[in-house]
Amino acid sequence: MKQKTAYVSKTVGQLKPSGIRRFFDLAAGMEGVISLGVGEPDFVTSWSVREAAILSLEQGYTSYTANAGLLELREEISYYMEKQFEVRYAPDSEIIVTVGASQALDIALRAVLDPGDEAIVIEPCFVSYAPLVTMAGGVPVHVQSLKENDFKIQPSQLEEAVTERTKIIMLCSPNNPTGTLLSKSELEGIAAIAEKYDLLVLSDEIYAELVYDEKYASMAAISHMQERTIVVSGFSKGFAMTGWRLGFVCAPEEICAAMLKIHQYAMMCAPTMAQHAAIEALKNGSGDVEEMRKSYRRRRNYFVHSLTEIGLECHVPGGAFYAFPSIEKTGLSSEQFAEQLLIMEKVAVVPGNVFGDSGEGHVRCSYASSMEQLQEALKRINRFVDSIC
Ligand code: PLP
Repeated sequence: MKQKTAYVSKTVGQLKPSGIRRFFDLAAGMEGVISLGVGEPDFVTSWSVREAAILSLEQGYTSYTANAGLLELREEISYYMEKQFEVRYAPDSEIIVTVGASQALDIALRAVLDPGDEAIVIEPCFVSYAPLVTMAGGVPVHVQSLKENDFKIQPSQLEEAVTERTKIIMLCSPNNPTGTLLSKSELEGIAAIAEKYDLLVLSDEIYAELVYDEKYASMAAISHMQERTIVVSGFSKGFAMTGWRLGFVCAPEEICAAMLKIHQYAMMCAPTMAQHAAIEALKNGSGDVEEMRKSYRRRRNYFVHSLTEIGLECHVPGGAFYAFPSIEKTGLSSEQFAEQLLIMEKVAVVPGNVFGDSGEGHVRCSYASSMEQLQEALKRINRFVDSIC
């Protein structure tokens, strides 16, 4: 028999494992660590939502749903998208309920990319984008959003990256890891490039509920963009439901039909009880979401202000629950900073370079932790920075 690794596909064999995991594993073996590394809410899902899942089980809803998800849930998603983001989707043909936003990203890319098609990936970005493009047979083309622009991509940068093979631009606002939020006019600039070169946009709007200073603008609501936009979203972040594995994707009918083929063969449907829970979240969850949003906003203000006081320059993130301070003044690489901070002060942050080359010189800190933990973490970060600067 050949070596076992010889059986692994070349495409998968060449993928690097997620850099975030390495730090989680390091931190997991240590005592007294404050983790600012995890990208998930520190709230437990609202009780009424949990209760809806319990009821679903009690009533014996233990079988498959329609491939695209329960019609009642798709109707609620349609209503939600219109109410929140002013964009209309037909529940029966333009919405698919997925296993997290993660699966939505996967089926979206697989549905539109042919071998060799290029997808523009704006860095720094969520770690799965480039690997998903590669696994879909496409070629990720990296474009770097820059610190001096508060990590807002400039349309001219996108235009420079467009080639004959470009098919789609992957966009994420608010962004993981920078927290950067794009305004309506900034989205319009990107939309103009997409229209000019007849490109699709995959708009990852998973953090759309967690926006603190302005109204959220969805790419699909920009004039003429709904027909070329695939919106990926879900319940994980805004509704504090990461473990439920429930997301959704909204897209023009033809693209939805293509995604549904992959979804029905590869996944069948999202978990039934989680779908019942999501109906409750959309029907009655907005009050709890608002409370969580207020709480994140307070913590964002405190955390970013304190980082700046420590001397770590940090733009004010408009959304999500990440701060992305510059650690350049320490003279350390982002990996060295994260590793030494963990060993010396037991605070876990994520090195910026795991989100792409333009993340170097920064670390991602999630402020979805209690105020006490944030205070203690900041004290330790301050001591660490003082010890090396
Ligand atoms: N998109 C972004 C930008 C994320 O940060 C995450 C999770 O961290 C996801 C998608 C995946 O979300 P889900 O848990 O719904 O699969």
